[in-house]
Amino acid sequence: MRTVVRIEVVHGDITAEQVDAVVTAANESLLGGGGVDGAIHRAAGPRLAQAGGRVGPCEPGDAMATPAFDLDPPVRHVIHTVGPVWEGGDYGEDDTLASCYRRSLAVADELGARTVAFPAIATGLYGFPPERAARIAVATLRTTPTEVTHIRLVAFDRETYDLLAAELR
Ligand code: ADP
Repeated sequence: MRTVVRIEVVHGDITAEQVDAVVTAANESLLGGGGVDGAIHRAAGPRLAQAGGRVGPCEPGDAMATPAFDLDPPVRHVIHTVGPVWEGGDYGEDDTLASCYRRSLAVADELGARTVAFPAIATGLYGFPPERAARIAVATLRTTPTEVTHIRLVAFDRETYDLLAAELR
């Protein structure tokens, strides 16, 4: 295996991404939550929560797949990963966040997904400092062996976009 060929940052709504798989920042139940997870569940329809309930629960740092249901093609898979709740940084939060990115790539490989869109995992309701999260996201995605060729880091706000773009330079 090699590493990802291309990583880019884009500004927008991850539910509009045209990729093989979208990653959602889920909570452990995989039944749907707020933020990006709420948006993905709304777009994928109620079968996503039913499928999440069957495969879950999911531990922080792990990732699990379901079909993408009503998300528009070419999206075929949702990869649900559970970030760390930020508790100050002394509780393994960095490692858990890196594990989210690594495990999501491993699940993408199991699915045969070559193009994957990621949100800024854990930087919303879970409170992970965005600059530190951007550094971990880019460093982990750059160094993890995978068959995924193309990653789109989807930033929902300007600050996240700028932080990710700076890490990619
Ligand atoms: P967590 O609970 O892991 O912190 P959140 O969904 O609260 O997850 O936030 C993670 C990131 O996703 C934040 O940067 C938030 O602004 C962003 N986000 C929220 N909605 C969307 C969306 N529709 N597309 C892409 N990113 C989104």
